This record gives sequence, C-alpha cells and structure tokens, in this order.
Amino acid sequence: MTIPTLTLNDGFTIPQLGYGVFKVPPADTERTVSEALEIGYRHIDTAAIYGNEAGVGAAIAKSGIARDELYITTKLWNDRHDGDEPGKAIAESLEKLGIDQVDLYLVHWPTPAHDNYVHAFAKLIELREQGLTRSIGVSNFLVEHLERVVAETGVTPAVDQIELHPTYQQREVVAWAVEHGIRIEAWGPLGQGKYDLFGMPAVADAAAAHGKTPAQTVLAWHLHKGNIVFPKSVHTERLRENLDVFDFTLTDAEVAAIDALDPLDGSGRGGSHPNEFN
Ligand code: NAD
Repeated sequence: MTIPTLTLNDGFTIPQLGYGVFKVPPADTERTVSEALEIGYRHIDTAAIYGNEAGVGAAIAKSGIARDELYITTKLWNDRHDGDEPGKAIAESLEKLGIDQVDLYLVHWPTPAHDNYVHAFAKLIELREQGLTRSIGVSNFLVEHLERVVAETGVTPAVDQIELHPTYQQREVVAWAVEHGIRIEAWGPLGQGKYDLFGMPAVADAAAAHGKTPAQTVLAWHLHKGNIVFPKSVHTERLRENLDVFDFTLTDAEVAAIDALDPLDGSGRGGSHPNEFN
C-alpha cells in the first residue's frame, strides 16, 4: 500500500495521510505509534502541548525505520512565541523525539491578543535555516493572520493546519491558502466524534455504495479535496481502517452531497475560535 504524497511550496513532499496523537495518553503513545508504524503509517503529527513527544520518539527509535522514510511534525506552544523561546522549544521537542530535525514545525495558534505570532514565525524561518526543521508552517491561522505573516516576513508558510471537516469547511481560509500555495492540513478530520457525522445520509449512503465505512468515506472526501489528514485513534482496527482508504474514490455527486453538509455560518465549528484562544 502506497500513501500518496503532496509537494509543499518549498519543494519537499509530505505523505497525505498520517497518524495524529492529540489526546493519546503519554503512557500509551509508544504502543499506538509503534502499531501505526507497523501497519504502514509513516507520518506522525504531534505537538509539545500533547505531552507525548517522548512516546513518539521511543516508537521511532524502536521501529528501525530509516529516518528519511518518516515524516514527523511537531508544534510550538502558545507561551513560547517571544524572544528566543522558539529555539529553546524546538530543542526540547527534538530531544524528546530523539531526532536532529523535524520535517515540519508549526506555530500552533496565532494567539492574536499577544500580537507575537509574526515574531514566532520569523523565528521558525531561522530554525529552518539552522536545519532544525525542514519545513515550516502555521496552525489555526485565519486569512488576516496569514496575510500579516507573508507580508511581514516575506515567507509563505508551507501549510496551515486548521479545523476542517464536513460541517466546518473553512472555505475562506482554504481559498486564500490555495491561491498562495499553502497546503491545508485538516485537523479533527472526523469531526472529533463531536457530532453524528457518520450517521448523516450524505456520508452513510456513499459509504454503503462503496462498501466502506463512514469514517473511510469522510477520509476519502478529504483526500479528494487535497487535504492532508492524520485521524487519531488508539485502536488497532481503526488505525487499519483509517489507512485503508486508497482503493476507492467518491463520485462528484457524493462529494457534492458531503460539501453541502456545512451550514456555512460557522456553527459547525467544534474547537476554539483562533481569535479567542489566547
Ligand atoms: P479526529 O477527527 O481525528 O477524531 C478522532 C476521534 O474519531 C477518535 O477519538 C475516535 O473517537 C474517532 N475515530 C477515529 N477513527 C475512527 C473510525 N475509523 N471509526 C469511528 N470512529 C473513529 O480528531 P483529532 O484527533 O482531534 O484530530 C486529528 C489530529 O489533528 C490530532 O490527533 C492532532 O494531531 C491534530 N489536531 C491539531 C489541532 C491543532 O490545533 N493544530 C487540534 C486538534 C487536533
């Protein structure tokens, strides 16, 4: 099974599907990441704030998989934007992960009330120049944040990792990102289990038509859109299920039916609003 890759605006490639470990308990992380790597995942999405980078690192070390076959993302937490904190933070993350360089380092949230996300991203540019991360990007950035970062640093982030699922499709951010060559990483791709996505007819009917599960159907919708996804599970069967999504494609009508699930008024958002999370 080959996981497709996408090319980023800096020329590097990223596996379009990976394994995200938000809320995977630190004590379980080595086991679940080891299982994911055994099953065939090669892209792991973690963050300093998840508290489980050491578990990811232990699984990487045990796996015996060559470093250049793995894609590891971690993120700078909100209280480390100022001064030289980003440099210290990435050093701590690399130590826990047991590697010399991450593939992708993200500013986790813009925290606009502190007005320091441009500085944080400028620091990430330096960290990339120092070889501590290969690519740099942002997360939870709205158009106004992306515009400032690009205008004030002259560097376009490789990705914006944002909440995105059928009832919250963030069309404005996605359109701006596409226009500026920024890849979208969809967090909460399955809606984080916060609403009955899998029971919605647009999803359930397409799933039945293809003999796949609703979760696989939603992931196929993301892949069709060009989103990068890393669904989270701690169960081996679901880890397998979430990877087994490359043998079918949705019809245009099925995609359109899922597109229509977004109420378009923002009410489908499950997580924090980027301007209110400071
Ligand atoms: P998700 O949409 O991946 O939902 C995970 C939940 O969906 C699981 O806990 C489980 O209940 C359910 N699930 C998973 N596979 C299933 C299956 N096959 N069948 C039925 N149910 C299934 O939500 P998430 O974990 O929040 O998002 C994925 C990743 O995105 C995270 O692990 C993390 O890496 C990243 N993330 C980033 C941010 C950010 O601010 N940048 C925020 C949240 C998540």
